[in-house]
Amino acid sequence: MTSDSNIQRTLSLGQQIVEMGRRLWIQGMTPGGDGNISVKIDQYTILITPSGISLGHMKLDDIVMVDFSGDVIGNTGKPSMEVNLHLTAYKLRDDIRAVVHAHPPYATVFSCTSEEIPVNLTSEILIKVGEIPKVPFAPPGSIELARLCEQYVINNDAFLLSNHGVVTLGRDLEQAGSRMELVEHISKIALLSRNLKSIEYINTSDMEKLKDIKTGLNRENID
Ligand SMILES: [Zn+2]
Repeated sequence: MTSDSNIQRTLSLGQQIVEMGRRLWIQGMTPGGDGNISVKIDQYTILITPSGISLGHMKLDDIVMVDFSGDVIGNTGKPSMEVNLHLTAYKLRDDIRAVVHAHPPYATVFSCTSEEIPVNLTSEILIKVGEIPKVPFAPPGSIELARLCEQYVINNDAFLLSNHGVVTLGRDLEQAGSRMELVEHISKIALLSRNLKSIEYINTSDMEKLKDIKTGLNRENID
């Protein structure tokens, strides 16, 4: 690939971040400057959203490039405080090229309780996202939080941060962003369904079939 096409690809990835930021912000998932998004450029560098700018109002110039040590490349601004969490995902998962962190309200309710999100309510969540476990509490932006996330990054494509929000991973930004929307969607369905008296959950045997479908889809994407 020529350096010109490398620059074009980097600009395109940056533009994808700007557009995804607006998409999540419009849906109320990143209020008040919350949330952060990154994409992997190559084995040395990522692009990540800046600190202190609303995801709904970023420009391409605001996106920050950092190396795998978290150091800013060039004079491109200050990266999100959660940069270590993002780098943890790329270091531990070769198949992951995008990470999204947001505070969507329905899913964040679950992050503030001892309950898990019930993924046995709809087929799509098991096929496209899988289980959504909860990482124990650590302060936002801390090295401790990034370290606590390690085992969840290895085993899951989405997880809750206790009393905080949600992280989703994907082979590209579209998949990571869609997974964030799906986690919020199932959380909303779970909370709304409590108003009804006869919720029917997917049984264990059918859940295994759905997990197999997800495993098959992941393998297809790798191959
Ligand atoms: Zn957060």
